[in-house]
Amino acid sequence: MRRMLQAAICAMVVWFGLFEFGGFAVYEGGAAGEQEIVQASGAAASAAYYETKPVPAEQASYEPGKRLKLDKPVKAAAAPPETKQKLLYLTFDDGPSENTELVLNILKQEGILATFFVLGEHVLKKPEIAKRIIAEGHSIGNHTFDHKYEILYGSFADFSAQVMKTDDAIFRTTGVRTTLFRAPGGTYSNFDQSYFDAMAAAGYQVFDWNVDSGDSKRKGVPASEILTTVKGSKLADKLVVLLHDSAGHAESVKVLPAVIKYYKSKGYAFAPITDQVKPVQFKVAKKLKWSRAQVSRPEKLKLVQFSEKLGRSVQPAQTKKDMPDLILHRGQESLVFGEGEYELSNGSIKVPLLKLTEWVEGKPEADLNDGASVAYASGGRVLPRPSPAGKATDGKAEPAVAPVRATLQKFGIEITSYVYNDKQREIWVTG
Ligand SMILES: [Zn+2]
Repeated sequence: MRRMLQAAICAMVVWFGLFEFGGFAVYEGGAAGEQEIVQASGAAASAAYYETKPVPAEQASYEPGKRLKLDKPVKAAAAPPETKQKLLYLTFDDGPSENTELVLNILKQEGILATFFVLGEHVLKKPEIAKRIIAEGHSIGNHTFDHKYEILYGSFADFSAQVMKTDDAIFRTTGVRTTLFRAPGGTYSNFDQSYFDAMAAAGYQVFDWNVDSGDSKRKGVPASEILTTVKGSKLADKLVVLLHDSAGHAESVKVLPAVIKYYKSKGYAFAPITDQVKPVQFKVAKKLKWSRAQVSRPEKLKLVQFSEKLGRSVQPAQTKKDMPDLILHRGQESLVFGEGEYELSNGSIKVPLLKLTEWVEGKPEADLNDGASVAYASGGRVLPRPSPAGKATDGKAEPAVAPVRATLQKFGIEITSYVYNDKQREIWVTG
């Protein structure tokens, strides 16, 4: 049994690995606006064609059979004929507002299409502008309802409620159901893997960016500074450029013609994002800005069911597991034990003692002498069964497991209700 579970966990790790590096272009997000491309897949190479920088001296001197005078800039070898069209996706966040109309006028003049990640509450305030976005052939994406970070990233239930509300607002206003989504503030240090998974399971495509125009790093960033930032950003075959069209972004409107001119001069074609475009996503941060529980199975299911009702093709059940997660609920908080992390034996559910005691703010202490673990919390003392593999052959003590009910009782916490079947395993306890 244990061996089977381990195999399943390994398979999951492999699958997630493929998912991350095969399915999406992955960009490293530092501070917003300082994304380092970690997977450049030829981007760096092609960028070299289009830059007129002199070849660095060290590189030039290695050219076989040639003596180069290094006091003059050396021209790079003529670029081979272009085989791949470089694409640029202009994206405007936080609208619609009066500025959106000005942006639409410019785009029309330039004959190019873009993508607008709108806020649900602004769509309801400016329905005519939202309709105009669609009427003129641009793409529309979901950017949540009110953009309030603390609410969106405090709990997935609130986050997904805003996603659904905005999805409906866009549909009722424009007649379009969009699967395109952009996270307020970007995903870096806001999304954990469970946010990504839940959105993907519901068929949403989450787009970050790889060029931050810097137009929202503070209030009223001048057009000249935005243009300098844009021109200083790395080029690649596919660029997703972040701009804003909400109220207060007159400078973004002002600089837009120059931004378009710059990318046209670099040979880019402009396109709106569609569901066929592979998302650009930041890597999952090691540390989030927020402390919150992982997305629970019911929370995820709610969003998936919303999508299913719309007839949207949701991600196939790749995340299907042999065992559902075990979720403990205590007031607003929940604790998730994944497959292989808990077991049912002799009629009681056993979980890792350390994880459980930490959750109830206990102070776990390992007693290495007898291979058992001792946990203290609220004056309670728990002596779980010694782990049979405590003195395992590899010398590493396995974490001790403890029965949920008996352990919680030591801390004065009672189980008030539970569901335990093949699809759902959840326990509610007193606060
Ligand atoms: Zn935004």
